[in-house]
Amino acid sequence: MRLDKFGVGWLLALFFAVGLVSCASPTVLPSDVTPAPLIAVTHTAAESTPTLTLFTPTPEVTESPSLPIQLLAYTIDAVYDAGQKKVEVTQLIQFTNPSTQPLSEIMLVTEPNRFANGFNLNRLENQITGEALDWELQRNLLQVTLKEPLSFQEPIAILAEYVLQLPPIPPPSDTSKPQIYGYTQRQTNLVDWYLWLPPYDDETGWIVHPPSFFGEYTVYPLADFEVRFEVINSPREVVVAASTSPVQQSQNRWEYRFDSARNFAISISPDFLIEEAQVDGVKISHYYFPLYRRQGEVVLQHTVRAYQLYSQLFGELPRQSISAVQADFLDGMEFDGLFFLSKGFYDLYDGTDKGYLTLITVHETAHQWWYGVVANDQARHPWLDEALCTYAERLYYERFFPELVDWWWFYRVNFYQPQGVIDLPVYDYGGYLAYRDAVYLRGALFLEELRKALGDEQFFDGLKRYYGENSGKIATPIDFFNAFEMSKAEIEKVTQSFFAAMP
Ligand SMILES: [Zn+2]
Repeated sequence: MRLDKFGVGWLLALFFAVGLVSCASPTVLPSDVTPAPLIAVTHTAAESTPTLTLFTPTPEVTESPSLPIQLLAYTIDAVYDAGQKKVEVTQLIQFTNPSTQPLSEIMLVTEPNRFANGFNLNRLENQITGEALDWELQRNLLQVTLKEPLSFQEPIAILAEYVLQLPPIPPPSDTSKPQIYGYTQRQTNLVDWYLWLPPYDDETGWIVHPPSFFGEYTVYPLADFEVRFEVINSPREVVVAASTSPVQQSQNRWEYRFDSARNFAISISPDFLIEEAQVDGVKISHYYFPLYRRQGEVVLQHTVRAYQLYSQLFGELPRQSISAVQADFLDGMEFDGLFFLSKGFYDLYDGTDKGYLTLITVHETAHQWWYGVVANDQARHPWLDEALCTYAERLYYERFFPELVDWWWFYRVNFYQPQGVIDLPVYDYGGYLAYRDAVYLRGALFLEELRKALGDEQFFDGLKRYYGENSGKIATPIDFFNAFEMSKAEIEKVTQSFFAAMP
């Protein structure tokens, strides 16, 4: 133990911090827990009725080139009944056939249906023809069958009406992943709450993955959002944090436009206090609970500085706002334009920057670049965003607290003596700690090695090129290495002790 160097307080802080986060360091789960298989609906061309296929927790992984951008727009009218914890939604989903082939089955991701009675569909129709659509709902997927296949580049508009019954967010537990979606006494979170279209690949079809026990598994194509949100039946006036700033707002109605975005998250609380700053025309906000005024300023300040640093190092962020939201659950999680920070970090804050409140704030801010603008398949290539965001913490300390870089490497990475290859799908790690150690911690070590091998100039040029070339896309490891313009031999040399297979 290194008590002499870091002190007992640090050790206690470390002890309590382990197992508090998910995007950045999720809750510890027993390593022998494996996700239960999920049933998903698939159709074959010759069949008119659905057949069930078992998704195994370890899906076959095949390489594919960068996925094309598909045109996609959501218009969402939602009324949240704060008393009943219900959301009534009318949603229009407009897109053109994302395949080069005729398409008769459309997949829509329906995460609220993972909760008992969480999703009740009242109406589903083709708005262009006015015809009711056939559908089949299995766990988190709604499969829509079209009577007439959609031809190449043909547009469609699907109108859906449904009611979400929000689940309570359970208290922290050692055996289950922290839940973000739902409500606590003082916060309601709507994340992945509407129907959304997954990306489509001509060779492999819809890109949907079974839920994972730890780590993320969703993959988002870019979409334009128009959201009208109303809160009724609330005994107190609420504050609403969202993926972007409202274009219109009256007492209990908010209207948003968020173009070329991955998703649209909302967090509601009557207790939120707000700290805000304008930086280069971007509004950066921190929503936090009373009694955390000191942390309120600290989180805002780090988000602002991280935003400025990453804009310089990676490239311009095409967003008008970023919102950091104190989570009333023990987890941190990124969404486009908005991220949650575990309340646990606020409680552990000791007035210095040697702790998780600072680390995770700048980690989550980095996800706006690596996840938001440059997305990746989070189930198949979780290292692509998580290693970069963990390394972004190191870059932040390097710039603003150079005297703490050694501390960062010890506290964040080397203390755990991380093992494991970094390039596996999220399902293949067999436990949260093995996943975190490999993907986040050895992921950061790998990027440090890459930087040493290339030299600073080529390394930072490569990061900028990776960002520029893959903005708006779903990048693959091949895209990552292409940006560094390395030879096969160079890639092999730098990846051999970190990767299971040559990318
Ligand atoms: Zn993360």
